[in-house]
Amino acid sequence: MRTYFPTIFGNDFHKNRIAEAVLEERLPHALLIDGPKGSGKMTLATEIASALNCENRADVTRPLPCGRCNACRRIHEGGFTDVKILRRADGKATIGVSQIKDFRADMYLSATESGYKVYIIDEAEKMTTEAQNALLIVLEEPPKNVVIMLLASGTDSILTTIKSRTQYVAMSRFTTEELSSHLNEVSSEARSLSFRDPEAYKALLISADGRIGKAMELLNPRAREENEQTRAEIMAIIKALGKKTPYTELYAAIGSLPQKRAEFSASLEILISALGDLISAKKTESFSPVFFTEPSSARDMARDIPLQRLIKIYDIVMHTCRECEKNANVTLAAANMASSIKMA
Ligand SMILES: [Zn+2]
Repeated sequence: MRTYFPTIFGNDFHKNRIAEAVLEERLPHALLIDGPKGSGKMTLATEIASALNCENRADVTRPLPCGRCNACRRIHEGGFTDVKILRRADGKATIGVSQIKDFRADMYLSATESGYKVYIIDEAEKMTTEAQNALLIVLEEPPKNVVIMLLASGTDSILTTIKSRTQYVAMSRFTTEELSSHLNEVSSEARSLSFRDPEAYKALLISADGRIGKAMELLNPRAREENEQTRAEIMAIIKALGKKTPYTELYAAIGSLPQKRAEFSASLEILISALGDLISAKKTESFSPVFFTEPSSARDMARDIPLQRLIKIYDIVMHTCRECEKNANVTLAAANMASSIKMA
């Protein structure tokens, strides 16, 4: 059988279905690809763009996409004019209507290359309602040979009218064992790391949280160092949560979180996972931690903090996270979080 999407791990059901649709020229004009950050949505989207434009599409002896022809190579390098990616503007919490209108106008221009024009919207769940309605017009009556892909981490904020006009693709999450065996297969760095620093390797797998893209990213020593740094910052907060710890310590630990909105929110999400582990450790004997590398380390950390307090803190951090999504001032949000935790 012909190999479809060879660079994408797992997700066989979607890969076969999409590849067959591409070959039979019946791929829906809009896809909604849903999965957590780092689950490989962008990789899948660019691979679909390659499959649509691959010069060796009809050659059954090669994989689809072939990855070697001129179109495949240029799409991979980001130099293919008819594959366009729209991202949230720097520092903005949402994707606004003007961005979508520009994108939409481009869809009606004729193709520069010969094949399909592909439009990818990253973090589509961040589109404002107005932006989504602007996009809806083009989804209702799409120009010929245009494929639109919406990438989202959760689709709660996406309008039903958009959902009903797109084909839904959910990216799989993998177990730690699956991730590990795939990493060992494709990466010598993974093999070497698991051997020379098993603890760091375990932390990498835990941080990847079932997401293959995130795991691959963390194999890069710089990314791994940053991740270790974040984990250390979160640990410092966790250590300062006990009622007896001086407030100044908690305040300092929260104050050392990154000040940029996106990074601050990402850190809070990790803190929420860590708090979830502490709560599980209080409640059950056996559980699979998502932040701590072992249940026993979560249990040790949770020992001096009452369950009721942990639950209150969990809610406070969740609340702060939501406020930040709504564009709250990060410094102020961090200060409010610290004083609310103090009183919890
Ligand atoms: Zn190709």
